[in-house]
Amino acid sequence: MIETVFSVELPVREHLRVQKNRIVGAQLAKAAANDPQLLETAPRLAVVTGIHGDELEGQYVAFHLAQTLNAHLDQLHGIVDIYPAINPLGINAVERGVPGFDLDLNRIFPGDANGPLTEALAAAVMDDIEGAVACVDIHASNIFLREMPQVRINENSAAQLLPLAPLLNVDFVWVHASATVLQSTLAYSLNARNTPTLVVETGVGMRITPDDDRKLAEGLLRLAAHFGLWSGPFEAHGMPVISGDKAVSFLNAEVAGIFLAKARHGLRIGEGETIGQIVDPLQGVVMQEVVCPASGLLFTLREYPVVYPGSLLARVLKE
Ligand SMILES: [Zn+2]
Repeated sequence: MIETVFSVELPVREHLRVQKNRIVGAQLAKAAANDPQLLETAPRLAVVTGIHGDELEGQYVAFHLAQTLNAHLDQLHGIVDIYPAINPLGINAVERGVPGFDLDLNRIFPGDANGPLTEALAAAVMDDIEGAVACVDIHASNIFLREMPQVRINENSAAQLLPLAPLLNVDFVWVHASATVLQSTLAYSLNARNTPTLVVETGVGMRITPDDDRKLAEGLLRLAAHFGLWSGPFEAHGMPVISGDKAVSFLNAEVAGIFLAKARHGLRIGEGETIGQIVDPLQGVVMQEVVCPASGLLFTLREYPVVYPGSLLARVLKE
């Protein structure tokens, strides 16, 4: 059932409406027809994406998950709420933030029901999700960098979230030091209210990577099964690499030019191997050989070719 989470009229006959698809298992739906209160207490998984309007990988995930669940409602035991577009105006305008407000929606949580429009939107989304058995907030990378499917966890909530992360079929789990954690994100705010929330980062901005996105959607079914919400089939992939105490090397451009990747993204790379070259198309010369400083997992690789000194080219999780 499509439900409206937040709605407001905008000038010039526009409308800002955040919607969710509430998918209710067949048995629960039948019982709730007589006792609607059952829906309030039933176990519920929340899947969120589109907080950043230029990150579209989650659109495929939302589609695949909803399509699968709808086809097997008898195997769903509870509720899955899918929120495909928390920032619908951003998605329409292909903008990260909220158009017209010049604002990153993922920096104003938990919001304020009596605050300005975007704050009220954030508060409505918080209220709607709070109390779920788990929430998964799916982001994509920007247009510049391609990411392996990964879960990012703040070390403060690692004890609770680390056992759940591998269920999502990701290749990598990056546990961040608490000093680098932003407190105004949806995930931070929901975790602070005891709704376990995992952040997924995958692919590249403004694009869909169907194979990875389908794996992730299957991982959401796997997570639902873990909570007893799903008894249907799902794909289970192997254990991800977990960052743990391992250091991450950042490789940055030393010169301006066009970056040509040579290494394969998402695979192990050895010390001294070439990640790519920065070339000068005007002169026809190689300006910089980008060499891997340490063996490890190449989990981030530049997708957008134009670089300047300091541009991020790659990240390697050192072995
Ligand atoms: Zn994002």
